[in-house]
Amino acid sequence: MKTAFDRRHLLQWMTLAAGASALPSWAARPAADPWPDDSRVPGGIARLSLGPASARPTLSFNDAPVLVLGDMIEWTAIIGIPLSTTPGQYPLQVQADGQTREKSFTVTDKKYVEQSLKVSPKTVDLSPEDNARYEREAAHLKTVMATLSQPLPMTSSLRMQVPVPGRRSSSFGLRRVFNGQSRNPHSGMDIASPTGTPVKAPLPGKVIDVGEYFFNGGTVWLDHGGGLLTMYCHLSQMDCKVGDMIQAGQAFCKVGATGRVTGPHLHWSVMLNRAMVDPALFI
Ligand code: ZN
Repeated sequence: MKTAFDRRHLLQWMTLAAGASALPSWAARPAADPWPDDSRVPGGIARLSLGPASARPTLSFNDAPVLVLGDMIEWTAIIGIPLSTTPGQYPLQVQADGQTREKSFTVTDKKYVEQSLKVSPKTVDLSPEDNARYEREAAHLKTVMATLSQPLPMTSSLRMQVPVPGRRSSSFGLRRVFNGQSRNPHSGMDIASPTGTPVKAPLPGKVIDVGEYFFNGGTVWLDHGGGLLTMYCHLSQMDCKVGDMIQAGQAFCKVGATGRVTGPHLHWSVMLNRAMVDPALFI
């Protein structure tokens, strides 16, 4: 059995062996949990222990590569569970040290409440032109959502600050009815905030998309590494361009009321292995 002391001792040794001058901050003190909450429901996250391995293990869920964090003593898979997932057991094939290990996790049901919204009829029953535009945008967004880069360094926390202050006007997962018609569930968190309020990055990230979209309005996507992406919608202003590196806490765009909205607010989505998950699990 590994004790906390053994683990710390080994990390100290590894750090010295690597020629580094100090322990990473998370190893030196038992800080708050740096990773998102475990919540094995549709729209939630499964944190799965993968045990030790000499190099980072790899696995996929729904054909998308999963974020794996940790070190050679203990690796953890942080799996985004799409809202459309039916409850049940999900087997996984984990590749580690040249071998395949079987793992599985169980998704339980979650009932999300319904929300009725009144919006411009043009944004519910699309004209042929708007529908063609939407389909072009959906194809483009698919390529943005497939972004996969190296995970953030182990010393980083995945805990996020809310990007703008304000009242949470709509939560993740709500089953939405626009002008009496059912549409896709709400795939992010809405925060009511006046137009022009600066939006601050919750984690360091790279700008991977800036655009004006039919439903989402002015939009920016950030890539935080390892398949962890965040999206900011209905913006009045985008003060960044593709390729920019944004620091945690840095303002990079402004709240607005563009796209399909009932008023100014920030729509904030968090995506893991191409699944939109509840941003509240990261706060
Ligand atoms: Zn929203």
